[in-house]
Amino acid sequence: MTTVGDQEVDVMYGLRNVLSKIEGAVARRSKDLPQISPRLVAVSKIKPPAVIIQAYEAGQRDFGENYVNELAEKASNPDILGKCKDIKWHFIGHLQNNKINKLLGSPGLFMVETVDSEKLADNLNKQWPKYRKEEEKLKVMVQVNTSAEEAKNGVPPSEATSLVEHVLKQCPNLEFIGLMTIGIYDYDMANGPNPDFITLAKCRQELCEKLNMDIKNIELSMGMSTDYEHAIEQGATTVRVGSVIFGARPPKPN
Ligand SMILES: *Cc1c(COP(=O)(O)O)cnc(C)c1O
Repeated sequence: MTTVGDQEVDVMYGLRNVLSKIEGAVARRSKDLPQISPRLVAVSKIKPPAVIIQAYEAGQRDFGENYVNELAEKASNPDILGKCKDIKWHFIGHLQNNKINKLLGSPGLFMVETVDSEKLADNLNKQWPKYRKEEEKLKVMVQVNTSAEEAKNGVPPSEATSLVEHVLKQCPNLEFIGLMTIGIYDYDMANGPNPDFITLAKCRQELCEKLNMDIKNIELSMGMSTDYEHAIEQGATTVRVGSVIFGARPPKPN
């Protein structure tokens, strides 16, 4: 048990519980879907380095943050650098062009899941050679606004294929990994499969047909604490889970 703010959190228990539920969901997943074993990204935003280290020591390697400054600070934290040598940071927030250098300079940056414009892709492509080790490409996902909410970032589903094509053809320093969506909060599963997940899977289908790609090589990042099992049943290959591992976050001030 660790006290985080005013909560008692058992990170190891939370992590094990999520991993076993993921396994259960994989077993229920339709056999028509690519059988990629899902990656759990532990979303550690607002949580202190101590709990990240606990999760790492329990075997977790992929962590997600949605603010550049917070990711950069945690990635450079001496305890994390010392104890979490193989940590993989996923950036899952909105990326402004003026924060690119700070993000790319963060040790252990593994993937940017939120590429949502050609300009952002071009800038990442241009800056990455200054930061990369050896010849490795920067892994990126294209973020799709599947719920068409004004406040959400991401390209409309109808533009996903063309942005992916741009990354593939114009951005030799980037490696296209898949599609990501956030989707609506509090979707009621009593109404059937989450339309955001269906839309993201359709975008993948479409881009495979148009760009002649193999569906097995294209990931889907979707699903959070309330719906990651459902997301996996719908084909998620990456789930981003925070509060059920690290404890609830204070509500966002409006
Ligand atoms: C915070 C966040 C998550 C995790 O949310 P939980 O409900 O805590 O699991 C996932 N994805 C993104 C983009 C987030 O910002």
